[in-house]
Formats: sequence, structure tokens, C-alpha cells
Amino acid sequence: MLAPHEGIIPSDIWLAARKKCLNNKNVGIPSKAKNSWLIGKAKCGKCGHALSIRYSKKNSVRYFMCGYRLNARGCDGFGTLRAPELESFVLNAMRERLKAFETLSSSTEARANPKLNELRIKEHQLSEEMDTLLEKVMQADGALMALINQRASILDAQLKEVRKEIREITAATPSTDIKTLTGYFSKWEELSVDDKRSVVDLLIAQVKATKESVEIVWKI
Ligand SMILES: [Zn+2]
Repeated sequence: MLAPHEGIIPSDIWLAARKKCLNNKNVGIPSKAKNSWLIGKAKCGKCGHALSIRYSKKNSVRYFMCGYRLNARGCDGFGTLRAPELESFVLNAMRERLKAFETLSSSTEARANPKLNELRIKEHQLSEEMDTLLEKVMQADGALMALINQRASILDAQLKEVRKEIREITAATPSTDIKTLTGYFSKWEELSVDDKRSVVDLLIAQVKATKESVEIVWKI
């Protein structure tokens, strides 16, 4: 559930969700005709450029199109995608994601991030090896000392790299705790588009969509 690659939604689930939304006429009515809290996050699943939003007066519905296709004809695009379909799908996915994290935090680890765990283990191993090396310095003569120095500088470089990766991951993790986030979702409809966008930004890096597939790139 929490591995990054599992943000990819099987197409049958996405198609079913779109169909369900299509039958629910009310969700199509916008408060602001040409706006969406997914703007900036939603990308074309084909070319990766940002999706643009358009409003059809005739059908009173907002829809997404590939912005690169609209502006420069640089992408074949995927036609149009009703904005409420993608919004309600992503909203559900975020709720599910938070639920999974709530379950986790009630056990031991608040934020299980396999990559982070892996890096911390590596950091620990490298520091241990460095300590062992430094202990040897006490009895080392000139030739051994040169070897120790050589190994130590390799270890040092690796440690720096691992620590940099750890910092990048922990910096990307939202400082807002899961309970606070869950609170936002319980009053989601009351939030302004800008507030919704801020909440989404804590959880999601990107949503890549076409008519056939959605991939959510999570930050948590
Ligand atoms: Zn495109």
C-alpha cells in the first residue's frame, strides 16, 4: 500500500471510478468555472506537461486537457477528461492513504518509509565500519596508516551521500501530522480551492492522468 510504485492505479479501477462519477450528476457543478485544486499537480500521462482546465457551458462541466497539446500541439493528448472524475478519484486516494498512515501510527512506526529505513541501516553500517577503522589507527604504522586513510575517505564520501539522501527524504515528509491532515479531509468541501491545493501539496508530488490510467506520485 505504501510503496511509491503502488501509486499506479490499475486501469479497471480508474475506469470504474470514472463511470461511477459520470452517473452522479451533482459532482459536476463547479463553484468556480475554470478552477481546480488539481491545477499544478495534474500532468498529462502521455507527455508529462501540466493539464489545463476548460469549462464547457453547454454541458456545464469542467474538464482537463493536455496543456502542451492546447498551446503548442506538442502532444497528441488524450482528448478531454472531466475534472470532477479526476478530483473525486484523487480525493478518495488521499483519504485512503491517510487511513493507512493512521493505522500505522497506532502501531509502532509513524511513517514507514522503506527507502528511509534502508538508508538508515546503511548509515549505521558505514559509521560502524568507520569506528572500527579509527580503532586500528592506534596500532597502525606508516603503510597501514595510508590504507586506513584511503578507506576512511571512501567511507566518508559514502556517508555524506547517504546522509544527503536521508535529508532529502525527511525534508519532503510533511511536518503536519496525520491527525491534522485527516481533519482537513473531514471538512474538505468547506475549504477554499487554495486551501485544498495546500493540503494536496503536502501529500502529492504529481498526478499523471490519461483517460485510461492515473498515477499518483506520493510525497508520503
Ligand atoms: Zn500531453
